[in-house]
Amino acid sequence: RAKEQKRSSWMRFDSRMLEQVKERLKLERLIRDGLERHEFIPYFQPRFDVQTGEIVGAEALVRWIREDGSVGNPAEFIPVAEETGLVRDLGEQVLIDSCKQMHAWHEMGYSYLTISVNISAVQFTEDLYTTVRSVIEESGINPEKLELEITETIMMKNLDKTAQILRELAQLGVKIVIDDFGTGYSSLYYLKIFPIDILKIDRTFIDGIPEDENDGNIVSAILSMAKQMKLHVVAEGVETDEQLVFLQHHQCEEAQGFLFSKPVAADDFIVMLGDEMVV
Ligand code: C2E
Ligand code: MG
Ligand code: MG
Ligand code: MG
Repeated sequence: RAKEQKRSSWMRFDSRMLEQVKERLKLERLIRDGLERHEFIPYFQPRFDVQTGEIVGAEALVRWIREDGSVGNPAEFIPVAEETGLVRDLGEQVLIDSCKQMHAWHEMGYSYLTISVNISAVQFTEDLYTTVRSVIEESGINPEKLELEITETIMMKNLDKTAQILRELAQLGVKIVIDDFGTGYSSLYYLKIFPIDILKIDRTFIDGIPEDENDGNIVSAILSMAKQMKLHVVAEGVETDEQLVFLQHHQCEEAQGFLFSKPVAADDFIVMLGDEMVV
């Protein structure tokens, strides 16, 4: 009897696994088709100067705009895109579109705007330099206005290789951002050996401000360290006025979050910029 039970539960497990494999293969095929149809489009979330409230740039956040008009979020497809390596093509499309978009904004007179693009660990190879260089050339952007967001997980993989890739990218003039700062294997050593320009404080630390004393202390410590090291800081996930006031008091340079705006399509971003000119 025990044997029978074991066998049937194993079979249930097996068929569920088979279902999962099928689902994953289906998603992989859909992503592949979506890439061919250019359905992966960057949305833009404004980044604001904390002191003046002006839009200073945007983070490009990919959305999957399917044929039926439905919009997919990164959590639904980035993991599979990473496992299958499709994130390389996806990331390149997002980088190209983002640079073209920034170029258009610069041409319209908003030449101060910067754009930051997320780089997956899978994309972080020697090829990245070649890709970024050709995208800069083809889009005609000012490389100083392009920021590449990488995470601490990327950096800890191979220190020498990472240092080399980052130095090459820095020589192109692009800025390097540590995304989700404080959540990975944060090592101050990285700040010492890598050419980092910007720290993006993870929203889990912004979340508890002002109630959670630990969050407040961590954020103010990051800000004062960054000031000493002449690193620029962006606070991510700012949702309340209290959080903004805290960041103003602690001289954080930039913020982004739902308090200002969620990520929006390029056309809506332009409307926000336009509103600003009127003010
Ligand atoms: P991330 O780079 O840390 O991006 C910030 C995420 O926080 C975005 O989620 C954004 O919509 C969300 N967010 C912004 N402000 C707030 C806020 O005030 N409250 C809350 N609760 N959330 C806020 P999204 O767009 O779903 O992206 C999730 C993650 O997917 C990104 O995290 C990034 O790691 C990845 N991702 C997005 N676009 C790309 C891409 O083009 N390439 C790669 N490789 N990864 C991407
Ligand atoms: Mg990011
Ligand atoms: Mg982040
Ligand atoms: Mg993240």
